[in-house]
Amino acid sequence: MFADIGLGIIAAIVTSFLFEVDLSNGLVFGGVIFTLLPDIDALASLLKKKTFLILHEHRQFPHKPLAMIPLAVAIAFLFGPHWAFLVGFSLFLHLLHDSIGIGWGVQWLWPFSKDYFSFFYLFQPKNRLTIPGKKFGIYRFKESELAYLEENFGDPNWVKNIYFKFHPYSIAEFLIFVGAVIWLFSLFRIYA
Ligand SMILES: [Zn+2]
Repeated sequence: MFADIGLGIIAAIVTSFLFEVDLSNGLVFGGVIFTLLPDIDALASLLKKKTFLILHEHRQFPHKPLAMIPLAVAIAFLFGPHWAFLVGFSLFLHLLHDSIGIGWGVQWLWPFSKDYFSFFYLFQPKNRLTIPGKKFGIYRFKESELAYLEENFGDPNWVKNIYFKFHPYSIAEFLIFVGAVIWLFSLFRIYA
């Protein structure tokens, strides 16, 4: 989540450079909202089932890249191309973030394929079997396999084991967040 906030800030900065628009509070706020938005399904399941630990049941509708295109187009018509880019880029960064490290990836090719894809690295819990299916740095999981994978290869205590321990993934998340905030404040100094 901290990395998502950082990525939202980065999306706003990139948008302001590319479209030569002011790096306004609204732009930064919009970037952060839209990088967090896809996890609204996790929030819904948290409220309903009082748990957010079942990873494969989350990452539903707002995590399908092609389903997001009509939203970006609608925003382009309503608010202009730089807002459409910000929304599209923020959502893309969220999905990219979800495709590396934890969870079982994203349905990048939906509706053409229901398979989930994850890239480069997946957190490997201790004392568990090696997560199968990696080819050329890409994991590909069938939707029907997710419950089995979660049961046999997942870590029920992933929140604790990743975020509350000295772990490369949590360090990377933290660095993205801090780096983005420092970048943002350095730019505000230039504008001021
Ligand atoms: Zn997500």
